[in-house]
Amino acid sequence: GQRKHHALVLAPCDDFSVMRSYRTGLAAADATGGYYMRAVWISILALGIAATAAAADLASVEPRNWWTGFEHRELQILFTGPEICGLSVRADHPGVRVARTERVANCRYLFVYLDIASDAEPGTVNIEFSAPGQEDFVEPYVLLPRREESRTGFSTEDAIYLITPDRFANGDPGNDAIEGLPDKPDRDNPFGRHGGDIAGIEAHLDYIAELGFTAVWVNPLLENAMPKYSYHGYAITDLYTVDPRFGSNEHFRALVAAARDRGIKVIMDQVDNHVGSSHDWIAEPPTADWINFGNSFVYGSRARTTNMDPYAARTDIRLNADGWFSRSMPDLNQNNALLADYLIQNSIWWIEFAGLGGIRQDTYPHNDKHFMAEWSRRIMTEYPDFNIVGEEWSSNPVVTSYWQAGKVNHDGYVSSLPSVFDFPVQAALLEALTATKPDQGTVWDPLYEVIGMDFLYPDPNNLVIFADNHDKSRIYTVVDEDPDLFRMAMVFLATMRGIPQVYYGTEILMSNPGTESHGIIRSDFPGGWDGDSRNAFTGKGLTQSERDAQQFMRMLFNWRKSAAVVHHGKFMHYTPLEDTYVYFRYDAEASLMIAMNRGTSAVDLDAKRFSERLQGFAYGSDVLSGKRYDIASGLTVPARSVLLLELEPGTP
Ligand code: CA
Repeated sequence: GQRKHHALVLAPCDDFSVMRSYRTGLAAADATGGYYMRAVWISILALGIAATAAAADLASVEPRNWWTGFEHRELQILFTGPEICGLSVRADHPGVRVARTERVANCRYLFVYLDIASDAEPGTVNIEFSAPGQEDFVEPYVLLPRREESRTGFSTEDAIYLITPDRFANGDPGNDAIEGLPDKPDRDNPFGRHGGDIAGIEAHLDYIAELGFTAVWVNPLLENAMPKYSYHGYAITDLYTVDPRFGSNEHFRALVAAARDRGIKVIMDQVDNHVGSSHDWIAEPPTADWINFGNSFVYGSRARTTNMDPYAARTDIRLNADGWFSRSMPDLNQNNALLADYLIQNSIWWIEFAGLGGIRQDTYPHNDKHFMAEWSRRIMTEYPDFNIVGEEWSSNPVVTSYWQAGKVNHDGYVSSLPSVFDFPVQAALLEALTATKPDQGTVWDPLYEVIGMDFLYPDPNNLVIFADNHDKSRIYTVVDEDPDLFRMAMVFLATMRGIPQVYYGTEILMSNPGTESHGIIRSDFPGGWDGDSRNAFTGKGLTQSERDAQQFMRMLFNWRKSAAVVHHGKFMHYTPLEDTYVYFRYDAEASLMIAMNRGTSAVDLDAKRFSERLQGFAYGSDVLSGKRYDIASGLTVPARSVLLLELEPGTP
């Protein structure tokens, strides 16, 4: 048949402002930096032009491009457009062929699988669409070479700064309201959009780097075209597009590059479990089983243990894995092979497109666990040095360890997920810092015991440790705004095995007194908005205690950056006595002694008790105070304080 290039496809578009009329144009950026415009079919229909099958205008092509050189040769391309399912598809490119075409019940979707040979050349693949009696058209599809830079994931050498992007800094007030997107800016509403964005994070990367952080985890940045309550980002309505209120895909990629220039990895928050109810898939599901429970709301349980419980009933397993997160967040059926491929490719696309330094996967135990096994396996196969942390909100290490790669599970479940959040240690840390003294034992016992359960994990060093996050009361609130307990918590995070994560604003004692409202926990960072009376980036208007805390954090996490013994050293701890908990980090080159005293009087430590670790050391220099201790003449931990001693060789 006669070929013509599809009239509306990939016309060069240099005018960025065209993208402002949101959802009248879908901007696709190729990885060489050029912008192209793709007209959207709904605008054609709105003009009253009837679309015939072969002349159908593609609403979207996902993924927007791909790369050569992946281990996994098969690529699913999802074409969306009116009456597209009847078309035949061919591909014309060396090393690339159409392996199969999957047609589904909803005719506006067509899944085309390409086989990309290992020696396929990067370039433009002409994908030809045809139907009997109609004019053919060609969709050019770009295959790029894979990026050369290493994609080493975050590790114990890193400290992570967690950012809720709507609430950190508004670098571009011009994108606060976007035509076509509901949920207009409302800074007075704790659950409204406040205008923070990628430009705001980018503008303050130096601040983050100077605090000593080497990674940022940013809550989801993808489109949330929801009528309200969209600021948190977890109700995604387009898995391939950054929400224009945060910026653009290109801007996100620029952020990752700018962060990398400052030694900061970007960890993307991804959500495979659900989408927002305004996602096109809800009104127009590709198949009847695309959304769990027949695309009608059934509230999911939080019975996470059904994933490993040998006695779990099938209905309970289903309600945990398939029930909806909420009415506005329908649950994706990851048992559908087409959807599973879509989600896996989506994660890989973002890693490769942006050059990510890690992924944080939301609500891990409420996904289909067999899907997550394949998802994590596929990513780690393509990026062996990458890192992914899963959110398993359980305080039981038997539950959290189930998901870590390398775990030999009772039911044969094999995961490739490298890291999980250490919720068990988080819960025990808060208990240790806040509990009243028990009749027996010490306040530290639960923490001591749960760390002692590390044998459950194949790799306890690759746990992400934290005191709070965007879903939890801020640590300064939890410790009743006690600066001594706050410092203890921060020293713990900076010296414990694992990878520390700190929520933005912790460094200036941000607090949520008297409420656990998420909207308040995720308050605006002072100085992030023009006209703010206080500015934590410059220090203007901060109280003395806020300045002190900020300086303390800067000192502590910059120290951690070069403390190789914290990154890679061994760990040993001693049974808590009275009000104290003592542990060591050590290797052939260095030794640290950390001693915490939660009591209201000073404690003299018996150095003999720690001789296994103190042998050969005569002095300890406190990183926090600069004071140098002569071990032989006694180690006194002042009331409600912590020592962080760098041990120095010598014979006492
Ligand atoms: Ca903004």
